[in-house]
Amino acid sequence: MTSDHDVIIVGAGLAGGILAGVLAEGGRRVLLLERGRALAYSDIPSDHLRNHRLTLYGDNTTPDPAGHPRVFIDGAGVPHTVLPHDARYQLNAFTVGGGARVWGMQAWRFHPDDFRMATRYGVPDGSSLADWPIGYADLAPFYERAEHEIGVAGDHAGTTHAPRARDFPLPPVPRSPSAEWLARGADRLGWRTFTPPLAVNTRPYLGRGACIQCAQCIGFACPTDAKNGSHNTLLPRALASRRCTLVTRAHASRILTDGFGQAIGVEYFAPTTTDSATLERRTARARTIIVSSGAIESARLLLLSASPLQPHGLGNHSDHLGRHVQGHAYPIAYGLLPPDVESSLLGPGVSVATTQFNHGNPGIIGGAMLANDFVKLPLIFWRQSLPPDTPRWGLANKRAMRDLFRRGIDVRGPVQEIPSPDSRVTLDPAVRDTFGLPVARLSGTTHPETVRTAEFIRARAEEWLRASGAERLWSWPAEKKFSAGQHQAGTCRMSADPRDGVTDPFGRVHGHDRLFVCDGSLHVTNGGFNPALTIMALAFRTAEHLLASP
Ligand SMILES: Cc1cc2nc3c(=O)[nH]c(=O)nc-3n(C[C@H](O)[C@H](O)[C@H](O)COP(=O)(O)OP(=O)(O)OC[C@H]3O[C@@H](n4cnc5c(N)ncnc54)[C@H](O)[C@@H]3O)c2cc1C
Ligand code: SF4
Repeated sequence: MTSDHDVIIVGAGLAGGILAGVLAEGGRRVLLLERGRALAYSDIPSDHLRNHRLTLYGDNTTPDPAGHPRVFIDGAGVPHTVLPHDARYQLNAFTVGGGARVWGMQAWRFHPDDFRMATRYGVPDGSSLADWPIGYADLAPFYERAEHEIGVAGDHAGTTHAPRARDFPLPPVPRSPSAEWLARGADRLGWRTFTPPLAVNTRPYLGRGACIQCAQCIGFACPTDAKNGSHNTLLPRALASRRCTLVTRAHASRILTDGFGQAIGVEYFAPTTTDSATLERRTARARTIIVSSGAIESARLLLLSASPLQPHGLGNHSDHLGRHVQGHAYPIAYGLLPPDVESSLLGPGVSVATTQFNHGNPGIIGGAMLANDFVKLPLIFWRQSLPPDTPRWGLANKRAMRDLFRRGIDVRGPVQEIPSPDSRVTLDPAVRDTFGLPVARLSGTTHPETVRTAEFIRARAEEWLRASGAERLWSWPAEKKFSAGQHQAGTCRMSADPRDGVTDPFGRVHGHDRLFVCDGSLHVTNGGFNPALTIMALAFRTAEHLLASP
């Protein structure tokens, strides 16, 4: 058992990298444990069949996928053992940088009302909808810090859904002709649009180059390192301080506690030498432990850390640990551009959005931001975006692909989900990972109010395409299903009262002086926006709180 560190952070993902940077620069000695590898651009294949946008036969970052299954309980209660490339696994990304290594970079602040959903809408039957114990004003300075220290490109004047004190550090991404066409359609409806915020270098920034608008953005690494996350900003700062030790291929298996139940260290498996295939069990001690492993794995690690004093898992004093899992329902309306509208295959692709329907929709709880989509791989277009009556095979399909690929257009939005206590992560009683540890068991389904909101948003997406002059229009109804995925959140929600959640408003596990959680797990609700900028803001806030603590 070593104690050479002030802080141990479990997970060098998006939040973990920020925590490491702020804490190490603030003088703390940090041990950063990451189960994945630090991957160079050339280590992340551009395979169209195996990537984080289309995991048909695998993905392009997960180490040892077969050694880390999960168990998915279907609607009939039947368990299925699933591997990372299966959609039911709810994969984000297991690598240094986490999901942001391959993400789409949408970097949204939540709406102020996203923090007070229960007050604004009441609590629907069967749901666990609650207000956050903090408000937008508490996070605003940290949103600003994330925008500037990670690097976000945006339209200050247009992005009005949440008050902003300072302009974005980078100019917005260029608008494609089809996005201009959508903006004109929105004008006809009286809807306000703007260019959405993306964490991308639209010009050189923080010592790295600008986006070259390649056609392969989301799901892949960036050829110019213009895609911003903590892996190329705060993590290098942590390492440069010489106070952060990053151990990759280090899989935390348990939080260690003392005789009073307080966290004192972490047990983990790591290679005996840097390149060795042999892993050994190690322990490390520190004054503060921060779990930052993503919403599913953070809950799993706390459940795995049960002790005689806390037999149901650390932080499970009020039976909230692992519950309230949320992601985003994502309704999509598809159409075809008229022949006179120029399509574009320049990345990233997302360049027009509206926040008209995030709140204030009569009879509906919450809502969603709507935007156009990333440039698509041809195979994704073939699978998801062809008109329903298109021949799927042979010469007729080839002709359809040739005619329609550049004319496809869609509008989509992340729907504010209504949390349910039955949507949860537990430990599977039978299936174990490569280390012999029980794997995450995922069960539950979407609350009916989420489906209602998703149907409302789908209708707005269709309305937008129709008003823009789309030649054809089609979409699929929202359905109930377990929802977490890349936007997974909520499993260790924060609360002012220990009876209502797992951590306090700074991420400190209730009743545990030295144990923190900091990632999407903390979200009480997940907003009608992509969640990562909120995850980053919380990481800056928790790290500053720790530096200010004696
Ligand atoms: C293809 C893709 C596109 C996306 N696009 C967007 C977008 O446009 N906008 C947006 O807001 N969000 C997007 N996301 C989601 C976003 O990446 C996540 O919300 C974000 O990364 C979550 O941050 P986190 O710190 O909670 O977890 P993560 O970034 O997932 O980090 C968790 C880290 O912990 C490590 N870990 C897990 N268990 C252990 C363990 N036991 N021991 C050691 N290490 C462990 C993991 O390997 C991982 O590196 C996208 C994700 C993907 C995959
Ligand atoms: S579109 Fe730009 S940010 Fe995205 S991967 Fe290509 S070069 Fe990088």
